[in-house]
Amino acid sequence: MKKNMIEWILETTTDRMTEQRKSNQRKTNKFERLHHRIDDIIKYCNSCKRLWQKNRKMMSREYEYYPKNHIPIMGKKKEKCPRCKE
Ligand SMILES: [Zn+2]
Repeated sequence: MKKNMIEWILETTTDRMTEQRKSNQRKTNKFERLHHRIDDIIKYCNSCKRLWQKNRKMMSREYEYYPKNHIPIMGKKKEKCPRCKE
Protein backbone atom coordinates (compact mmCIF):
# COMPACT_ATOMS: atom_id res chain seq x y z
CA MET A 1 0.00 0.00 0.00
CA LYS A 2 1.23 3.49 -0.86
CA LYS A 3 1.75 5.89 2.00
CA ASN A 4 0.17 9.25 1.56
CA MET A 5 2.34 12.32 1.19
CA ILE A 6 1.75 13.81 4.66
CA GLU A 7 2.71 10.63 6.43
CA TRP A 8 5.85 10.37 4.37
CA ILE A 9 6.89 13.97 5.11
CA LEU A 10 6.21 13.54 8.82
CA GLU A 11 8.34 10.43 9.05
CA THR A 12 11.23 12.00 7.19
CA THR A 13 11.18 15.17 9.27
CA THR A 14 11.07 13.30 12.57
CA ASP A 15 14.01 11.18 11.50
CA ARG A 16 16.05 14.21 10.61
CA MET A 17 15.21 15.97 13.86
CA THR A 18 16.25 12.96 15.90
CA GLU A 19 19.52 12.80 14.03
CA GLN A 20 20.12 16.49 14.64
CA ARG A 21 19.45 16.11 18.33
CA LYS A 22 21.80 13.16 18.57
CA SER A 23 24.62 15.05 16.91
CA ASN A 24 24.08 18.07 19.17
CA GLN A 25 24.28 15.83 22.19
CA ARG A 26 27.51 14.32 20.96
CA LYS A 27 29.03 17.78 20.58
CA THR A 28 27.98 18.75 24.12
CA ASN A 29 29.43 15.59 25.64
CA LYS A 30 32.71 16.12 23.86
CA PHE A 31 32.95 19.68 25.15
CA GLU A 32 32.09 18.72 28.71
CA ARG A 33 34.69 16.01 28.77
CA LEU A 34 37.36 18.37 27.47
CA HIS A 35 36.37 21.05 29.93
CA HIS A 36 36.51 18.64 32.83
CA ARG A 37 39.94 17.47 31.81
CA ILE A 38 41.30 21.03 31.72
CA ASP A 39 39.95 21.72 35.22
CA ASP A 40 41.74 18.63 36.41
CA ILE A 41 45.11 19.52 34.97
CA ILE A 42 45.30 23.24 35.68
CA LYS A 43 45.84 24.21 39.30
CA TYR A 44 45.70 27.50 41.11
CA CYS A 45 48.49 28.52 43.43
CA ASN A 46 47.30 30.59 46.38
CA SER A 47 50.76 31.93 47.15
CA CYS A 48 51.64 33.52 43.84
CA LYS A 49 48.04 33.71 42.54
CA ARG A 50 48.90 32.01 39.33
CA LEU A 51 47.48 29.14 37.36
CA TRP A 52 49.91 26.41 36.57
CA GLN A 53 50.04 22.86 35.33
CA LYS A 54 52.35 19.92 35.55
CA ASN A 55 53.90 19.00 32.27
CA ARG A 56 54.27 15.53 30.91
CA LYS A 57 57.62 13.92 31.39
CA MET A 58 58.62 14.43 27.79
CA MET A 59 58.59 18.19 28.20
CA SER A 60 61.79 20.01 29.10
CA ARG A 61 60.18 21.89 32.00
CA GLU A 62 58.33 20.06 34.76
CA TYR A 63 55.66 22.70 35.08
CA GLU A 64 54.30 25.72 33.30
CA TYR A 65 52.50 28.92 34.25
CA TYR A 66 49.51 30.41 32.52
CA PRO A 67 49.20 34.13 31.93
CA LYS A 68 47.05 35.95 34.48
CA ASN A 69 43.35 36.41 33.66
CA HIS A 70 43.70 33.98 30.79
CA ILE A 71 41.58 31.23 32.31
CA PRO A 72 38.90 31.61 34.99
CA ILE A 73 40.08 30.41 38.41
CA MET A 74 36.68 28.97 39.31
CA GLY A 75 36.61 25.19 39.48
CA LYS A 76 40.37 24.82 39.55
CA LYS A 77 42.08 22.83 42.25
CA LYS A 78 44.13 24.87 44.68
CA GLU A 79 47.65 23.61 44.98
CA LYS A 80 50.94 25.35 45.57
CA CYS A 81 53.11 25.45 42.50
CA PRO A 82 56.55 23.79 42.66
CA ARG A 83 58.30 27.16 42.89
CA CYS A 84 56.31 28.21 45.99
CA LYS A 85 56.72 24.82 47.63
CA GLU A 86 60.50 25.08 47.68
ZN1 LIG B 1 53.05 29.68 43.38
